[in-house]
Formats: sequence, structure tokens, C-alpha cells
Amino acid sequence: MTTDPVTRPAAWWQPLPNGQAACRLCPIGCRLREGQTGPCRTRANRQGTMVPLHYGRIVSAGVDPIEKKPLYHFHPGRRILSVAAPGCNLHCQFCQNWTISQDGDARTTAASPDDLVRAALAEDSVGIAFTYSEPLVWFEFVRDTARLARENGLKNVLVTNGFLNSEPLAELLPWIDAANIDLKSMDPAFYRKVCKAQLPPVLAAIRQFHAAGVLLELTNLIIPGYNDSDGQLAGLVDFVADLDAEIPLHFSAYHPAWKMAAPATPTATLLRAHTLATRKLSWVYLGNAATEVGRDTVCPDCGTVLVDRRGYGGVAVGTACPQCQRACPIVGIE
Ligand code: SF4
Repeated sequence: MTTDPVTRPAAWWQPLPNGQAACRLCPIGCRLREGQTGPCRTRANRQGTMVPLHYGRIVSAGVDPIEKKPLYHFHPGRRILSVAAPGCNLHCQFCQNWTISQDGDARTTAASPDDLVRAALAEDSVGIAFTYSEPLVWFEFVRDTARLARENGLKNVLVTNGFLNSEPLAELLPWIDAANIDLKSMDPAFYRKVCKAQLPPVLAAIRQFHAAGVLLELTNLIIPGYNDSDGQLAGLVDFVADLDAEIPLHFSAYHPAWKMAAPATPTATLLRAHTLATRKLSWVYLGNAATEVGRDTVCPDCGTVLVDRRGYGGVAVGTACPQCQRACPIVGIE
């Protein structure tokens, strides 16, 4: 249980009459009464002031292969310090990390931005990944840590649901080097019913990350009976292809978790998604999958393996295919 007093004011809020506070961080747009906490469990009205509840509080930390985020086109083979605070502004019934994303009172430990930067440097980490739960609603701490990390030569990575208003996102993006955004479905009803959120702000955020020049990869968790039809998958692939067919797309297998009891994703469904997506996209990957299809980075023109990922990691051969010279947009090859 976090016991430290929360003293600093949050960013992106406005005072309202009668001691209420309006949050401007995410599209939910909460108006909180004195003492109330937002449904994200990360921000609260304390005596008329909006405060971030988890500034400098860490619920989960580890040093992971960067491929585990997943990021396949950013510093392949490197490891990255990965951290999270409790909370999320979505409430996806299938959340695979619900014990930290949906529990605002999860046990935390203290760490300052300086602590994280020093830990990343000591671990020879490529940078800091804000991941596991939802980093965008940990806004103030992510922003301050990312600035310090950049000053110290480290990279900043977000693994996120992309559900943030465009103004705060514009403040954060100059400090972000790479991101993996969950695009859960192209069906607005899926976002409303299964995630208690809205689709259009997520699509807008994806466009905003891309326009800002952040190295962007997308992940779609495929849930049988919910978002696995050819029509749903084709709609998602079309959105990505229209934006930029060079954006890597990861299809990931779901397993029953939290409030969702649908059966786990069959490998055949992932293979069907891979076949469908590779007709329009250059880089399509499969995650949590019992198959070697979609594991390596393969030249879309001639089939040469450009990154072999047996056992995670792997070494990229360059930014162009050695056989046919087709460009391969991978950042951070050493
Ligand atoms: S960030 Fe939290 S408090 Fe702010 S609008 Fe979103 S859910 Fe509400």
C-alpha cells in the first residue's frame, strides 16, 4: 500500500467551482469532486487540486530484451530497463496485466527519475521502457524521467494503449524515441463494450506518434469470437497500410485473463492473420505463438532473413537487404 503523501499538482487539469477539478489528460474527461479518484486510479482531487497518485512509485520493474515489448525494429538484441506504476484508463476485460493495471493500491516502491536513469546506465540498458500497465496516465513521472534519460544519452520507449488527448501527447512526444501501441480492434463497439473506451482517440494518437517521427510498432491481441474475423483483421490491416505499410504490426495470442473467459487464440488464427496482413504490410510478426512464422524479420521482396530471433534478440544484418538492397527500417544497429 502506498503511504507517501501526494503533494505535487498534476499537469493537464483545471479547477472548477465548488472544489471540483476537471482532468484534461485523457478522453474520458473526468470531473472529480474533492476526495474522488479517477477511474484510471492514477489521479485524484485533493482539496480542489488534481494530483498524480503514483509519481515516483514503481509497481513492477525488470530488465527485458527489447523484443519483449514488443519492439522488433528498434535496437534489436539490446535490453531495456522496464518500469510501471499501478493504473490504467482502460478496463479491458481481457487485460493480461490486470493485477497491476486495475489495482490502484498495488504495492509500490519509491524511485526518482534520477534513480531510474542511474539504474538504466548501470544495467547497460538502451534506455527506459514505460510498460506493463498504462504509462500515459503516469504522465508527469514519465515526462520528467524521459527528459532526464534523454540528457543522459538513453532512449525512451512507451508501450501504451494510445488513449490520451492530443495536447498532453504533444508535450510528451519530443522525449519519446519508440513506441508500441495496442490497436485492439477497428470496431468502435469493441472499444466501448470490452474496454470502456473509444476507438477514434486511439487512431488519432497513432497518427500523432507517426507524424512526430517516433519509431512506431503496433500490436493487435486477437481474441476468438471478438476481433478475429477476416473482416475485422482486414479493416485493421487497411488502417495501417493507409497510414504507412512500413509500420511493423504484431499479432499476439490472447490467453483467458481477468474477466474474459473466451478460449486462447489458436495458432491457426494467428497464421490466418499473418497471411492476410502480409498482402498489404511489409513487416508482420506473431507473438506468444507456437510457430516460427512471424518470428524473424524477413525481406518482403526476396525473403532473405534480416533478423533471426531464435531465443529472442538476434542481430540485424543492416538497414538494407544484403541480397536485393531493399530498405529495412531498423533503428539502432550497432
Ligand atoms: S487520466 Fe484518469 S482522471 Fe484523467 S480523465 Fe482520464 S481517467 Fe479521468
